[in-house]
Amino acid sequence: MLGDIWTSTVLWPTMRALCDDFGGRFVGSADERNAAAYLVRTLKSYGLSNVHTEAFPIHGWQRGAAGITAAGHELDCIGLPGTPSCDVAAPLVFVGNGEPVDFEPLASKLKGAIALVRGVGSHRLEKYFRAVNAGCVGFIFGGAEAGALPPTGSIEFGGMPAPIPGVGVSYETAARLQRVGADAAIMVRMRVKAKLFDANGLNVIADIPAVGASEGGPYIMVCAHYDGHDIAQGAVDNASGVAAVIEAARALMQVREHLNIGIRVALWSGEEMGMIGSAAYAEAHKDELRDVRFVFNCDIVGNPGGIWLGINGHDTDRLGAFFESLAAERVHDLRITGNKVIVPYSDHFSFYMHGVPALMMANGEPKHPHAGPHTWGDTLDKVDVRGLRHSTAFTARALLHLANDPTPLPTRHARVAEVKKALTEAGFKPLLQAQGRWVL
Ligand SMILES: [Zn+2]
Repeated sequence: MLGDIWTSTVLWPTMRALCDDFGGRFVGSADERNAAAYLVRTLKSYGLSNVHTEAFPIHGWQRGAAGITAAGHELDCIGLPGTPSCDVAAPLVFVGNGEPVDFEPLASKLKGAIALVRGVGSHRLEKYFRAVNAGCVGFIFGGAEAGALPPTGSIEFGGMPAPIPGVGVSYETAARLQRVGADAAIMVRMRVKAKLFDANGLNVIADIPAVGASEGGPYIMVCAHYDGHDIAQGAVDNASGVAAVIEAARALMQVREHLNIGIRVALWSGEEMGMIGSAAYAEAHKDELRDVRFVFNCDIVGNPGGIWLGINGHDTDRLGAFFESLAAERVHDLRITGNKVIVPYSDHFSFYMHGVPALMMANGEPKHPHAGPHTWGDTLDKVDVRGLRHSTAFTARALLHLANDPTPLPTRHARVAEVKKALTEAGFKPLLQAQGRWVL
C-alpha cells in the first residue's frame, strides 16, 4: 500500500484538478458545486460505496470592491468573507494584537470606532468578537509579518451573519494606518461592497465498507474540507487535505480484506465560513454518531516538513501511544500535541463537541511564509509534493492499522460534561459563547 502511494501518478493530477479546474471552491459558488461533482466521480471511480452529496444551508457571500481612505489617501484592503456592505467613517483605534489586555485599557475609546488589530496571537475571530463586544463599528485585520499578503478569513461563525464589517490589510498598510492614527485622532472611511444571499453548501460522503463486517456497525471517519477562499486556489488549505484523503481511500480500497471495521470518507464544505458543513452533518446525523469510533481530519497537509497531530477526546492515551509507535525509529517525522491542546478551528471540532474522539493532522511550515493560507498566495506552486505524499502515507497507514485492529481507539465517547470542562479549562468558553456555539 505504501509503495502504491509513494509511486502514485494520481495524487498530483488530483491536486491540479482541485486547484486549476475549480479555483477556490468557495462555499455556495459554481466552483464548489463543480468540485463536489468531480469528487463524487472520483470516489465512484475508486469503487467506494454510498457516494453522495448532502446539502446544508449557508449565508451565501460574494466579494465586491473594498477600500479605506485615511488622511486623504486611498489604501488597499479586502473584505473579510461574511462582511456586510458598508460606507462608514469613524475614528481609528489601534488595538495592538487585539488580545484582552490590549482591548481593556482602550474601552472608553472603542465605542463607535474602527478597531485596527495585528494578526498575531489569538485567532482572527477572537479579536473580531472583542471588537464587536467593545462596540466598534468596523474591524481592520492587519497582516502578521512584514511582506505578508493581506489576509482573508471569515468573520461569520456558526451560521450567524457578521455583525460589523471587516477588512484585511497587509502588514505595511496596517503599519501606515497605525502611524497616521498615532499622529492625531483621525477619521477613517471604510467602504465595502458584498452580496449576501441564501445558498447551499455540499458535503461529499462515501464509504469504504469492511469486507465481512456487518452493515451499520462502528466505523472510523476520515475527512478534509474541500472548500477554500475565493481569492486563491486553497491549495495548501485545503486541496492538500482532500487529495491526501481520497488518495488514502484509493489505496485502502486495494487492501479492503484487511479492514475489520469500515471507513467513512467525508469531504466538507463551508469550513472556511466557520465549519458549517461538518457542524450541519454532525447535527443531522446526531443519532448515528455513537457508531463513529474516531474522526481523523486532514487540514493543511501539503507543506514540507513533519506531521503534527492534535488528539482530542476522552481516554486517548492508547491512541497517542499508537501514533507514536507508527513514528518509532523515525519512520515518520511526527509531533503529537496530545489531549490538552484543543484546536477549535477545523472540522474535527464539530465532532469533538459531540464527544466523539477526534484528531486534526497538519504538517510542516509553509514553503513561503508570506504567501500562506488565507492569502492570494495559497496556490498549487506552494504545495510540497513530498510533504503531501508523506501525509497521505501516514493517513493510509494509520487507518489501515486502526480499521484492522481498533484496540487503540478510545473505549467510549466523552460525556458532555467532560467536553464542557475541557473547553472551559482551555479558555474557549467566552469565544464559543460569543459565536453562539456554546450549545453544550
Ligand atoms: Zn483549512
